Amino acid sequence: MLSDDDIRSGMEAFLERRDPGVRAATMGVGNDDLESGRRYLDGAAAGGWAVPSWPRELGGRDASADESRAIKRVQREFSVPDLYVYAVGLAMVGPTLLAHGSEQQQGQWMPSIANGSEIWCQMFSEPEAGSDLANVAMRAERDGDEWILDGQKVWTSRGMWATWGLVLARTDPEVPKHNGLSMFAIRMDSPGVEVRPLVQMNSDKHFSEVFVSGARIPDSYRIGNLGLGWNVAVTVLAHERAAAGGGGGGGGVKKRKGAAPTPPSWLAALLPSGRFEDPLWRQRATKAYSFDQAAAWTNGRAAASRQPGPAGSGAKLRSTRQYRDRATISLDSLGPEAMLTDNEHSLTFLTSPSMAIRGGTDEIQRNIVGERVLGLPSEPRVDRDVPWSRSRKGLL
Ligand SMILES: Cc1cc2nc3c(=O)[nH]c(=O)nc-3n(C[C@H](O)[C@H](O)[C@H](O)COP(=O)(O)OP(=O)(O)OC[C@H]3O[C@@H](n4cnc5c(N)ncnc54)[C@H](O)[C@@H]3O)c2cc1C
Repeated sequence: MLSDDDIRSGMEAFLERRDPGVRAATMGVGNDDLESGRRYLDGAAAGGWAVPSWPRELGGRDASADESRAIKRVQREFSVPDLYVYAVGLAMVGPTLLAHGSEQQQGQWMPSIANGSEIWCQMFSEPEAGSDLANVAMRAERDGDEWILDGQKVWTSRGMWATWGLVLARTDPEVPKHNGLSMFAIRMDSPGVEVRPLVQMNSDKHFSEVFVSGARIPDSYRIGNLGLGWNVAVTVLAHERAAAGGGGGGGGVKKRKGAAPTPPSWLAALLPSGRFEDPLWRQRATKAYSFDQAAAWTNGRAAASRQPGPAGSGAKLRSTRQYRDRATISLDSLGPEAMLTDNEHSLTFLTSPSMAIRGGTDEIQRNIVGERVLGLPSEPRVDRDVPWSRSRKGLL
């Protein structure tokens, strides 16, 4: 087992110490910086520090669960850049390849994810397939050893930066919707792939629509078995929710043994405003503080079980609420000044609604927690046994 000092000396080789007063950026908000993440991942690659639990030959260091947790903890002492740009590869594609990919696919894609030389995007959502993801209509038709893809994806974050896309496509429309899907990787510069950027209300510009017309990919880019793409998608989503939930939104609550608890840094930063002299403001702040604390404990307990599952939906719901609380309290604390858009809190505020949508909406997370954690009756599913080609689509 590595000691904390071993970890520190490994990290000192490529990272600066963190100034605890500086708050880390969240979820790539307003961040089009590809270089700092690439530099960090490149520096971390030799020691496998960015993805310690991955096998050594794939860019990790074969770390045990305890070692990985220790590395994550010690790493907080260092200045790690926002890895949003690289997060699909690191947090979703890599773990999914370990579960469903062939050895050849792991060897082809995981080292370049770990060292930041290739960026991935997630091409799941479509105009008619968001919450109802199994309704994906993008067609993949077999032609010898290749597949020909046609269709449209939407809300593809990082699409314009990505070398690779992870695509969910329909390989058999004549079976019920969950059974006819397969997962593929596609090079984003393939002929027939067109990425059209969309600008979000917080000014982020990496969001995209992706139009795919007759793009060809080899069968060796199919991840998992034919027709079992839904299982692969569920693995990806569980990792996505666990990663979104694990990030937290409140900056954490730290308490050394015997010391009085201190508020999270975002709340502490608001203290000089004098707002908290007011009992109603204090009540709001205390509520957010208590929720932060409860979320940190619950996430810590959930982290003890290694495989992300439906509980990741609970973690995502909590982090969405933390983010929203932080955004609204911070913005309100500015008073009339909040009407000016060029303050740091307005960016967070304008980003907060998207947190309740990306990675599956709050309503969908609650359905998952209700059905798969609490064991409540499922929603009626009228198209469960109907071939996808004959199921009702759209609003009409
Ligand atoms: C910032 C951002 C980044 C994103 N990045 C990506 C990405 O990189 N890749 C990707 O593939 N997708 C991405 N998405 C898409 C995201 O996953 C979808 O927007 C989300 O799953 C919701 O789908 P939808 O937008 O089609 O809404 P819909 O599914 O049409 O839902 C509309 C409303 O109906 C509610 N609703 C739907 N079904 C139910 C139900 N059964 N029970 C209760 N309520 C229900 C929803 O909660 C929602 O409020 C991103 C979205 C955002 C906002």
